[in-house]
Amino acid sequence: MSKTKEVYLSDDVRKQNRFRIISQFRLHGKKSRTEISKLADLSAGTVTNVSTMLLEEGMIRVCDQDASNPSSSSHGRPRVQLELNPNYKFVVAGSLTFNSISLSLFDYLGDKISTVQEKVMLETMDGDEIAEFILLMLKGFDVEVAPSIFVLGVQGLTKNNGKEILWSPILSESGMKFAERLSQISNAEVTVANDSAMIARSLSKDKAYADGTFGAVLMSYGIGLGLYIDGQPFQGAKSSASELGHISFKDGDGALCRCKKHGCVEAYASDYAIWRRAKGLDPHALPDRPVTSEDIAQIIEDARQGEGPAREAIREAGRAIGFGLAIMFGLFDAFPVVFVGRGAQALDLMDEEIRKSLNEHFRFHDQLDINFTKESDALIHVENGSSIVGLEWLDQQAAFGA
Ligand SMILES: [Zn+2]
Repeated sequence: MSKTKEVYLSDDVRKQNRFRIISQFRLHGKKSRTEISKLADLSAGTVTNVSTMLLEEGMIRVCDQDASNPSSSSHGRPRVQLELNPNYKFVVAGSLTFNSISLSLFDYLGDKISTVQEKVMLETMDGDEIAEFILLMLKGFDVEVAPSIFVLGVQGLTKNNGKEILWSPILSESGMKFAERLSQISNAEVTVANDSAMIARSLSKDKAYADGTFGAVLMSYGIGLGLYIDGQPFQGAKSSASELGHISFKDGDGALCRCKKHGCVEAYASDYAIWRRAKGLDPHALPDRPVTSEDIAQIIEDARQGEGPAREAIREAGRAIGFGLAIMFGLFDAFPVVFVGRGAQALDLMDEEIRKSLNEHFRFHDQLDINFTKESDALIHVENGSSIVGLEWLDQQAAFGA
């Protein structure tokens, strides 16, 4: 495409070209204009024009040149390398769990700069209080910057536009509305997303799961499912959907769930459920203190020693998960499953029960040979997935925004 023709490019094409070039820097890191031209399949002229604009607008920058190594050019000049400018804009990615908020600051390159975490009982707070609390937490970062976007993973159902929490067992009615308030007082975009969906988003960047169809089952303070189908994150018609945790596993007088209903998968498979069962506590009451990762690690260790309440609690969790997965497989076909979080560390002890329960309840196959794997730290994956969503939004804004 010649330079003169480019003058007549429609605004849409120009924006598309910007996006293609920004995306190549996002994917490949430092690159010369010539390399970008090949990768983006755009003419050298287009890449030169667009990159000049992006440099002026501060989205990309010239990398430090290694003067002693001018060999990469065919004309004797060192080939200038460009990259996304880390200081262009910032993302706050984090997660809200029932008793804590964790936030990390990411620069435009996607590097994590700083993290803060606070213990707080979210269900006792209204939306304004949560928003103000989050804003105050930013002061704990090592550097002072105004983020352009917050992406926060939360247990529960979120609307597909990322603006609203439709339901969450960890927030009060008013607490669910914190996103709008946070956006007002921070003057930033605020996106709320289902925590398990963010875990799946994070894992989708991992080569092991890059094939495109898998489910990430969060086994922690709650039970959730993030689903990828053919390389795309699954969303319901209106919401994050795929609520594995609150499928009814036991009818009638089942164990009490944090959602206040009885018999949910979560009431048997979450950390508080496993702890409650292992300690022989009343299944119709919620534990009176938060269950820690140490509590769960101890139960898993006890379960490894042999038969007893700890082992039985883990088995029960496996049966509940297998039941929930059977329902999901009935809707989506069987998919490989990655178990994430504290409870997932007992996968080897649960494996048999999950498969037994699956085979009993998923009746469309004679034999199910599903691959189960595990990952340990759920919060890191929620945060990673959230930062990916935040950076994608910044890239879209940089290309198509005002
Ligand atoms: Zn429930």
